[in-house]
Amino acid sequence: LIQLYMPLNFLGFVYREIKQSLTDMEHMFSLLDKEAEIADDVDACDLPEGGGDVRFEQVSFSYDPRRPILKNVDFHVPAGKTTAIVGSSGAGKSTLSRLLFRFYDVSDGAVKIDGVDVRQIKQAALRGAIGIVPQDTVLFNDTVFYNIAYGRPGATPGDVEEAAKLASIHNFIMGLPDGYNTMVGERGLKLSGGEKQRVAIARTILKRPRILLFDEATSALDTHTEKEIQVSLRDVSSGLTTLVIAHRLSTVVDADEILVLEQGEIVERGNHAKLLDKGGAYAAMWAKQQEAAQALETLEQVGQDV
Ligand code: ADP
Ligand code: MG
Repeated sequence: LIQLYMPLNFLGFVYREIKQSLTDMEHMFSLLDKEAEIADDVDACDLPEGGGDVRFEQVSFSYDPRRPILKNVDFHVPAGKTTAIVGSSGAGKSTLSRLLFRFYDVSDGAVKIDGVDVRQIKQAALRGAIGIVPQDTVLFNDTVFYNIAYGRPGATPGDVEEAAKLASIHNFIMGLPDGYNTMVGERGLKLSGGEKQRVAIARTILKRPRILLFDEATSALDTHTEKEIQVSLRDVSSGLTTLVIAHRLSTVVDADEILVLEQGEIVERGNHAKLLDKGGAYAAMWAKQQEAAQALETLEQVGQDV
């Protein structure tokens, strides 16, 4: 019975995660509509030169004043380093990314990039400095070229190709009927989840942001595609300040610092080895995820055998 229960329980977990990421997307769209609510300060500035140092200083936040979401969240991601944020669903992880991108303003404390409060930075400059690789990339009904070049207006074919190579999607594109001129999106060639994500990675490489933000919802990607994407992401993020809301084990392992967020508060922090040693919330989460990953591999194996 246990053997039957484990995979079923795990499927339930996958289902909930997928549902959550769809909800996140909906939130994201409704946020985009709301953007106008946050306006540039009269003396808003461009971002000064810098390596993308990120600071959350005693940040508290609530969408609704009656219900605090983040409480005194304090952390520092030095330029070029990687910080992973883990924690159960609803802990406030995506909210952190929304505050960095300034979809909302903090209720208390400050978010700073290269020493400047994001409220003082022109929004165009702020959004130009942050590259987001979403889990569910929506492609435009246009060519592959357009979909990648979108990352940087005025990009040359050479730039686009270079970015595609770094994202390990160039060879795939060259195999398409019209190469880079192949139409994709809902009305064109349908790409797989992994292919779409690599297009998004190429787009982000082209953008050359100083900060990378991955909000990884666990998706229906198979483990093979997931591994390929991880390799691309690791190449892309080397040397860039990276904030990753992590569900995947390997991103967490490599992070310079891991923050465990529970109900809007950081309850543990440290690197992977240190947190495993500690034997606390992170160690428990890790053990559970290892089990889930094994169950998934078993399921995929069964799928291949049938
Ligand atoms: P996580 O990414 O860790 O799953 P979120 O940051 O998305 O968590 O959400 C944290 C909490 O804030 C949840 O309780 C969620 O219901 C709430 N929340 C998220 N977005 C909104 C919103 N736009 N308005 C009101 N509450 C929200
Ligand atoms: Mg989230």
